[in-house]
Amino acid sequence: AQELLVVEDLKTYFYTLRGIVKAVDGVSFTLRRGEVLGIAGESGSGKSTLAWSILGLVPPPGRIVGGRIMIDGMDVTSMSEAELRRKVRWKKVSMVFQGAMNVLTPVYTVGRQIEEVLQIHRGVGRHEARQRVYELLESVGLHRSIADRYPHELSGGQKQRVVIAMALALEPDIVIADEPTTALDVVVQAQILNLLKKLAWEKNLSIILITHDLSVIAELAETVMIMYGGKIAEYGPSDAVFTKPQHPYTQALLKAIPKLRGPIDRLAYIPGSPPDLRNPPPGCRFHPRCPKAFDRCSREEPPLFRVGDGHLSACWLNEGGGE
Ligand code: SF4
Ligand code: MG
Repeated sequence: AQELLVVEDLKTYFYTLRGIVKAVDGVSFTLRRGEVLGIAGESGSGKSTLAWSILGLVPPPGRIVGGRIMIDGMDVTSMSEAELRRKVRWKKVSMVFQGAMNVLTPVYTVGRQIEEVLQIHRGVGRHEARQRVYELLESVGLHRSIADRYPHELSGGQKQRVVIAMALALEPDIVIADEPTTALDVVVQAQILNLLKKLAWEKNLSIILITHDLSVIAELAETVMIMYGGKIAEYGPSDAVFTKPQHPYTQALLKAIPKLRGPIDRLAYIPGSPPDLRNPPPGCRFHPRCPKAFDRCSREEPPLFRVGDGHLSACWLNEGGGE
């Protein structure tokens, strides 16, 4: 199938003592093989929860309560933990977590840690695993001698490359990268982004890139999803979304970030704060902060309207199409 990942009306809620947090609330999209999708939104917009949902790793008290996730034709939402481990994680989808450097164990060499993934999941012998470790390190632009080093002997950028090599160990179709460059300096950030771009191209790898930083998405992603309050506000080809944003939230974000630089969370100047997802505003969730809101917005929730080729916006102003 062309569509490697199909997410249909996904709902992932957290059942907290203080109420139900609707972290992801009716999200649908598809991802093609080799496609790089960037997902942006403020903290609490649901982007990380969406990633955990795809991996079957929603932490308690959260769970998927509605919708479906299909990966390469398999319905992963109906799988047991054991099945997810056997068929999906690492093999189909792997993740480069936020602050991924801390994933590495300090007491083992980098090579041994990657070998372990290969030995556990592939049952390969030590020698074969070592050869594969060298290939993996080289594929992320590291010298094979790095295999004998301990994590503390490596720079931040080298560690992030090791984590990416690990994520690639079992040749997944999709890598989810959650803030993969946040802790790195600007030069190293650019190198890691170029590496991801190269991998997507060379290995026909699909990448879901989650970030606060729209400049990262502009550089890397062909498709962008802007999330607000657990829902998709706008979705489409990066070119279209960045040059002709249709949703007032996207417009505000882009206006607030000249040249797309800087993390979204620093933008206190979109007045107001993100919605409380235990008790979201009725109608359009953005209406209390929206400069263009009108009476209908607080009563009825806008669906995603088609505003261009593959371009969608959840705003009543787009009911008749885009501008
Ligand atoms: Fe603003 Fe209304 Fe559009 Fe929501 S639906 S983004 S409140 S104009
Ligand atoms: Mg996050």
